Amino acid sequence: MNIKKIGVLTSGGDAPGMNAAIRAVVRTAIFNNIETVGIMRGYNGLINGDIKNLTLRDVSDIIHRGGTTLFTARCLEFKTEEGLNKVVKNCKDYNIDALVVIGGDGTFRGARDLSARGITCVGIPATIDNDIGCSDYTIGFDTALNTAMEMIDKLRDTAQSHDRCTVVEVMGRRAGYIALETGIACGATFIIVPEIPDIDIDNNIIKKIKEIQKTGKKHFIIVVGEGYKKTNELAEYVQAQTNLETRVAVLGHVQRGGSPSVKDRVTATHMGNYAVNLLINKTSQVNQTQNKSYVVIVKNGEVTSIPIEDAFNKQKEFDYNLYNIASQVSL
Ligand code: ADP
Repeated sequence: MNIKKIGVLTSGGDAPGMNAAIRAVVRTAIFNNIETVGIMRGYNGLINGDIKNLTLRDVSDIIHRGGTTLFTARCLEFKTEEGLNKVVKNCKDYNIDALVVIGGDGTFRGARDLSARGITCVGIPATIDNDIGCSDYTIGFDTALNTAMEMIDKLRDTAQSHDRCTVVEVMGRRAGYIALETGIACGATFIIVPEIPDIDIDNNIIKKIKEIQKTGKKHFIIVVGEGYKKTNELAEYVQAQTNLETRVAVLGHVQRGGSPSVKDRVTATHMGNYAVNLLINKTSQVNQTQNKSYVVIVKNGEVTSIPIEDAFNKQKEFDYNLYNIASQVSL
């Protein structure tokens, strides 16, 4: 099959670098004489036909912008048979030969359902949480880390001035990668991640604070991944057990915004370009009845791809080695 028109959408949580990926998809497609359409607000746009042509100039001046110019949304109707049928019909009506879907795990599950209904899809992993098992890296993670790091550095100034303990909650959903890396980068005394939910607070945190206090340290930073879910209780307990004035700071959605870092712009550009070339090369190898969909991934530093059916088999392993290093140097 010769691809003539590609649809591109962003779905699920936004992540800095999504615009760079959209731009790379559109420019690579046009470079190869393929038309592109932008689908607005994730799978919603495919259900209600909110679809517009994208030209070279439509993706000018977006590489440096956070968020997504195609907007994003969650779409419950898409998960129904009726919703999926509308999507398939609209893809036919708009002559869309293949889709590039930029988002997280949920977005890829949707693409897998579409693929089963004959629509070729390529997924590009974009989420600040870096929680997609099949890819070492997801677009947005680096920017979010740097944003969180800057904010925790600022919180350290005030914690230090007041001899306080600041408990900082960072994002990451059920994954602790943002907590782990920002905790290390900011010299946190403790890092609490959802992967280790039953951490013994008394024997780890309280005991360690008391020992460190004997060395003259008077202020502490504890970084907590939001998936731990007990940030406030933890802070109250630390204050009660140590007499340290303890404050909670929840960084929240600020971590999802902002201008993407170099790493996120370059990775997004590489992945967007790869996705379109994959569509051109793979779809020319199979006949029209053999629909194949893929997810673009980073593996051992290389941008590559795997079939979409294999994208859900693997839980990302938490880096316990890095976690142990962090605890050895936070004294
Ligand atoms: P993310 O892609 O960031 O993981 P979500 O989990 O919210 O974000 O998924 C984005 C959209 O993908 C959902 O609104 C829905 O339309 C679709 N989706 C999510 N999970 C599934 C699923 N299990 N099956 C089919 N579609 C799904």
